[in-house]
Amino acid sequence: MVKMETSKAKKKWKREYYIRNKEKYSIWAKLDYLKRQGRFKIGEECEKCGKKQQLVMHHEDYKKPFKIMVLCRFCHQKLHKST
Ligand SMILES: [Zn+2]
Ligand SMILES: [Zn+2]
Repeated sequence: MVKMETSKAKKKWKREYYIRNKEKYSIWAKLDYLKRQGRFKIGEECEKCGKKQQLVMHHEDYKKPFKIMVLCRFCHQKLHKST
């Protein structure tokens, strides 16, 4: 019983998280779609260290969905910690 309750709570949390970040999710989905169609290209290496693996898109401002920084996970984490 207890197990079920926690998974329920997790689900609820996930849903709330999704609702709170809906805007971001829709931006990511849009970019993903454009990328797959070849209508949108992002850099293939980290803008800070030049690494080509584990890249993520970083948005400085989600109101400007096409202003993206390509960073590796490490630089991305560092950037978020410093701000
Ligand atoms: Zn990097
Ligand atoms: Zn970021």
